[in-house]
Amino acid sequence: MPDFVEVASEEALSRRVAELGEEISSDYRNRTPVMIGVLNGCVPFIADLVRAMSVDLVVDFLSLTRFDGSGRVGMALDAGVPLAGRDVILVEDIVDTGLTLVTLRKILGLHEVASLTTVALLDKAPRRIVDVPVEYRGFEVGDEFLIGYGLDWEHSYRNARGLWAVMDLAVLQADSAAFAPFAYPASV
Ligand code: 5GP
Repeated sequence: MPDFVEVASEEALSRRVAELGEEISSDYRNRTPVMIGVLNGCVPFIADLVRAMSVDLVVDFLSLTRFDGSGRVGMALDAGVPLAGRDVILVEDIVDTGLTLVTLRKILGLHEVASLTTVALLDKAPRRIVDVPVEYRGFEVGDEFLIGYGLDWEHSYRNARGLWAVMDLAVLQADSAAFAPFAYPASV
């Protein structure tokens, strides 16, 4: 069994993000949604998604603080755009247990938004421990640890162009450079 398996190629990601962009655009025709990216994992996804959309929109970001292991999150950086009365779309890299999304929805709900939906590139549905709506999803994935296209290993590899599953985390724990030849094949 290889240590790293490509789950979605650059081309597959690009095709699926284009489809999501079209679908969301048709649902938000004649509206100007505020797309709020959840930093840092959303960066490649939101950059590609908003350019695949054909309605005017606002891009903003927020950032979370995670409290070790508990699943609890706090707000490190709030969105800058006033959200009252706006159609807000949260842009997430991945929804796993769902705890982050539940907290985010609670916080954003305080802003009296007109509507609130979520687009997640990846949905680890089998690992969900709280029930939370994900209106748009790119891919449903299993419970492997994923890296690339925004997802990191200890802050690295967010710029890998494809999305990869780590089949044996011990390999990365022993040597975080082990994924570099897969992430950056041109440099080998
Ligand atoms: P949740 O609160 O839904 O359990 O966690 C969501 C967050 O966990 C994501 O935004 C992401 O930061 C992190 N996460 C969950 N699964 C993965 C994964 O497979 N790879 C990486 N790099 N991060 C993950």
